[in-house]
Amino acid sequence: MSESLARELACIDCGAIYVLGYRLECEKCRGLLELRYDVDRLRAAGPALFSGTGLWRYAAMLPIADPGHRVTLGEGGTPLLDCPRLAARLGVRRLLLKYDGANPTGTVKDRTSATAVGAALQFGYRATSVVSSGNAGSSIAAYSARAGLRSLIFAYERASAPKLLHMTATASDLIIYKGVYDDLISHWDRLVEERLFFDCGASRNAYKHEGKKTLAYEIAEQTGFVAPDVVVAPVAVGETFIATARGFRELCEAGLISRAPRMVAAQATRANAIARAFRDGTPITPLKIGYTVAEGLAAGNPGRKGDWVLRLLRKDNGLAADVEDPEILEAQRMLARVEGIWAGPTGVATVAVLRRLLEHKDLDPAQTICAIISETGLKTEAELPSREGTAFDEESLRRLVRGLLSGRGHPG
Ligand SMILES: [Zn+2]
Repeated sequence: MSESLARELACIDCGAIYVLGYRLECEKCRGLLELRYDVDRLRAAGPALFSGTGLWRYAAMLPIADPGHRVTLGEGGTPLLDCPRLAARLGVRRLLLKYDGANPTGTVKDRTSATAVGAALQFGYRATSVVSSGNAGSSIAAYSARAGLRSLIFAYERASAPKLLHMTATASDLIIYKGVYDDLISHWDRLVEERLFFDCGASRNAYKHEGKKTLAYEIAEQTGFVAPDVVVAPVAVGETFIATARGFRELCEAGLISRAPRMVAAQATRANAIARAFRDGTPITPLKIGYTVAEGLAAGNPGRKGDWVLRLLRKDNGLAADVEDPEILEAQRMLARVEGIWAGPTGVATVAVLRRLLEHKDLDPAQTICAIISETGLKTEAELPSREGTAFDEESLRRLVRGLLSGRGHPG
């Protein structure tokens, strides 16, 4: 097991440096903190620094020092799928989908749960907590159970039945909340400051955030260290976007890739605070939001992480866009039918955004584009198709199959 090369925490606003520890923000300016590593060691060793499979293959570039704290359910190491048929449909030369629905609880959240719960162990906490629309809740609950920690999971009342079932099974305590995420999160954040439990929320904890950085490391390795030209990431408060961008930056600094991909932030129109600010060239104005099918993107106030996303977009020539719910559902059907990938609405928002950007000629179709698919469709709740069945004898069955295969459609 490799040693962690994490060296310090740095404030992203004023640059103040702190020794490693559980600290949520800068003492001087209240800025967010990010972990810094001994990138020289990565440059010197190259990919030889990585060993094993899955997320902890990159343990050297993650902040969990003791191998005994590296909790795992087999997360990471998800497929990077070349999708030529969908690429042709969307009109792009090459399309790669990073399918994170293949994680143990079916979402990208398992990457951050591994490092968040690992950090909870590292700092001696006995309980974790998160406020969630469903995916983060089931993931943190599962990883906490795996680590033998207590979990207090606050889940949105409209969370899908499969997510609720999953959380009921894995959480120590599941509390259903009414109303919008943004309102509860401000109260919950006070309890974080009182250190009643370990913060597994998306807004501040640098250790949690860090797990998603492995998306960039995996994409780089899976493409033979020729990173895609563009990476499209889903954005609620911006954890996946920021962590992926940072992973690529580290790989660049270490000389493992020659340039970082251009990052695209994908949002749902009903929760588009960041895309809107990007388009208007203004600071972020928090939105009062309603329901979107992309439940995991339903953050109207992305807070300081949202500001961080906007800063990265402007500094590094990024791009942000949002799509309406019907476009998301259309992308979901298309992805299932054309490539056999059944992803949830939150997970396919990136494909819907990519489709729109290509249609509007906002992206160069001659490039290699990678979209992150953040969740499986198996935890989605939707209206069931008709269950009305047909009884067959051998002849009627033969007639049906022959009819279908000859393209005459359903004969009966
Ligand atoms: Zn600071």
